[in-house]
Amino acid sequence: MERVYIGLGSNLAEPRQQLQAALNALAELPHSRLAATSSFYASDPLGPPDQPRYVNAVAALDTELAPLELLDALQRIELEQGRVRKAERWGPRTLDLDILLFGTRQLAEERLTVPHYHMHARAFVLYPLAEIAPELQLPDGRALQQLLAACPYVGLERLSD
Ligand code: ATP
Ligand code: MG
Ligand code: MG
Repeated sequence: MERVYIGLGSNLAEPRQQLQAALNALAELPHSRLAATSSFYASDPLGPPDQPRYVNAVAALDTELAPLELLDALQRIELEQGRVRKAERWGPRTLDLDILLFGTRQLAEERLTVPHYHMHARAFVLYPLAEIAPELQLPDGRALQQLLAACPYVGLERLSD
C-alpha cells in the first residue's frame, strides 16, 4: 500500500456535488481505501478569469494500484462525470483529478509527473492538504509547512459542511 494525495477541482454543473460524486468513486476504486478527505474550499480560477470560481478539496487514498493504473482510473472518473477536454488550458471543467503525491515517488513520465509540478504554488492544494496531513514532507525533503509559509491564503475560502 502506498499513500497517495489527490487534488479535486470543479467549477461546472454543481461543483460540490461533482466533488462528492468523485469522492464516492474514489472510495470504490479496487485495491484502494479512501483514508481521508479535506473540507471543501471555494477558490479563484487559475488561468482564464471569465469562469466560475472553483470548489477544491484534497483526498488521501491508500492504494496498491500502480501510478499509471491510478491515473487511468482518475481519468475514467473525470470522463464519467462529463469532463470535456478543450484546447484552452485551465478552462472550466466539471471535474479535475490530479495526483499530487504518490508515496515518496518522483516520476517524470510522459503522462505523469509526480509530485504535481505546480502544487507548491497553489493555495487551493496546499491548505486542504495541510488539513489532512499537516506533518507531510515532500520527496525532496521540503516540509509542507515550509510551502504553506511561502503561499499566502489568498482567493480561498473554506466552505461549511
Ligand atoms: P494542471 O496540471 O496545471 O493542474 P489540468 O489539471 O487542467 O492542469 P489536465 O487537462 O487535467 O490538466 O491534464 C493534462 C495531462 O496532464 C493529463 O492528460 C495527464 O496525462 C497529465 N498529468 C501529468 N502529471 C499529472 C498528475 N500528477 N496528475 C494528473 N495528470 C497529470
Ligand atoms: Mg489540475
Ligand atoms: Mg488535471
